[in-house]
Amino acid sequence: MGRTFRFTLRATDGTARRGEFETPHGVVQTPAFMPVGTQGAVKAALHSDVAAAGAAIILGNTYHLFLRPGDELIARRGGLHRFIGWDGPLLTDSGGFQVFSLAAHRVITEQGAEFQSHLDGSRHQFTPERTVDIQARLGSDIAMAFDECLAFPATRQAAAASMQRSVRWAARCRARLEVLRAAPPPDVTVSNPRQAQFGIVQGGVFLDLRRESADATVASGFDGYAIGGLSVGEPIDVMYTIVAETAGRLPRDRPRYLMGVGTPEDLVECVARGIDMFDCVMPTRNARNGQLFTSQGRINIKNARYAEDDGPLDPICSCYTCRRHSRAYLRHLYLAGEMTAGALNTLHNLTFYLDTMGRIREAIQLGTFDSFRQEFLRSVSRLSHDS
Ligand SMILES: [Zn+2]
Repeated sequence: MGRTFRFTLRATDGTARRGEFETPHGVVQTPAFMPVGTQGAVKAALHSDVAAAGAAIILGNTYHLFLRPGDELIARRGGLHRFIGWDGPLLTDSGGFQVFSLAAHRVITEQGAEFQSHLDGSRHQFTPERTVDIQARLGSDIAMAFDECLAFPATRQAAAASMQRSVRWAARCRARLEVLRAAPPPDVTVSNPRQAQFGIVQGGVFLDLRRESADATVASGFDGYAIGGLSVGEPIDVMYTIVAETAGRLPRDRPRYLMGVGTPEDLVECVARGIDMFDCVMPTRNARNGQLFTSQGRINIKNARYAEDDGPLDPICSCYTCRRHSRAYLRHLYLAGEMTAGALNTLHNLTFYLDTMGRIREAIQLGTFDSFRQEFLRSVSRLSHDS
């Protein structure tokens, strides 16, 4: 069976890129934002809401789904798309980030990572090959290579050793996928035979290590490339510099995915530096904490100033929350601890992020991205950190 993953660059404006990629479950317009569906659901949102907000692709977390309900159980249900009832494109991470951030008693060797489940303390091992097999059973449209996630801050020596190990693990992931494509062993159900695979560039805050990692990861020949290990505590200008340098070193004809980033301002700034794909828990997590992103800046809905505010959350937003409800009502629901508060706030924040991506795509297409960027940064900073 032929590979169907294909990225097409449609337009550029400076270093910003407008494109699209094809997966077995549909086409995704880029730059794209991927809502995070950790356990097979975007928290506090129905899939229909996520799709209505404009999401073309969502992300699932391999670590969580492996531990519960298990990748083999999901494969027996026909794969992740069928199991969760999402027909569109899906990306799964490799589980690396959660092993390094959530699991206990990690032991990292050249072979892989041994760890204890944060749920029940059971012991598991993730090797590069095993995470490819798990993602094959899940059957996402895009699988990620297993990488070592470096703690911040790290010395140059530690960053170099970790990056070089991630490069070796990336090559093993690629080799394993080739095995699964050619002749999958009987214990690995390949739920989506046309699954694409992305490599991940690491290297901490060291530009020369980032360059070395980019070149070596590209040599393994992935369908797309991610930049990992950023937004972990480094200064924002350092992150932007690394994004610009790394993106500029990646092949023009493959999508570039900045993992785990970020604020609306980060999305615009990193598109300007050549990024095509993003994921982040910020719109959904902040929504559940009452922090809302609007065209006029951030709003903390629990603020007393909204107690009798009959206006919509964002006057120019067309989401259900903004069409139907007042700031006063949203504040009341939040303070009363109603679950509906999380649902309404999540729907709005996702709509804001996805609308922003739509406006970015349009501006690149029209060649007006730079003026869009200036105006966007001016308006979103107006009410920032309202509390
Ligand atoms: Zn809204």
